[in-house]
Amino acid sequence: MDNIFKSEEEIKEYINSMSSKGKIDQIIFSLKNVIESTIGFSTLSHRSGLTRESLYKSLSPETGNPHLSSFLLILKALDLTFTVSFKKNDEFINNNVNNKSIIETHPDVFKEWHPTKNSRVNPLYVSAHSKRKYWWQCLINKDHSYEATCHSKTFKKSICSFCADEIENEIKKLKNKLKNNDKKGNEHGKESNKL
Ligand SMILES: [Zn+2]
Repeated sequence: MDNIFKSEEEIKEYINSMSSKGKIDQIIFSLKNVIESTIGFSTLSHRSGLTRESLYKSLSPETGNPHLSSFLLILKALDLTFTVSFKKNDEFINNNVNNKSIIETHPDVFKEWHPTKNSRVNPLYVSAHSKRKYWWQCLINKDHSYEATCHSKTFKKSICSFCADEIENEIKKLKNKLKNNDKKGNEHGKESNKL
């Protein structure tokens, strides 16, 4: 037996990430890997009350598809339980692009992560590729809270929507000023032509 997992936490993360796409062969592959590197098939058979033959059959990488009752017995024998979570709170597993959190890949963008409005989300599980909307807090003005996807924050470099509006208004004002100055200039020109 060759234990490739250093902790129970690693086993949990491994099975969770392998089952994230809901593909039976990947779930079975991960379970089989965990069994082989921890308790082995004979202990599993003993603990679950299932015969080795039926275990091999239901955990066969090609054709395996254990009954729910066997599946639960296998998990129990491995000291695991079956839980579900909403996709919303397990973003990472959905957007499992490179298994890295936005905290790690885009620390500068993460400075704007809203400290209170994303309370249901653990940013450790949020990837920079996420196309889900989160709350951000402007670094220039803390009263500016706005929603944006991580994707637009990180890859389109989108800035605070309030500041963006302010900048746009300033540009408009400047353009109008220039236009008016131009008009005045033209009128002035006409008048001097008259003279
Ligand atoms: Zn702002």
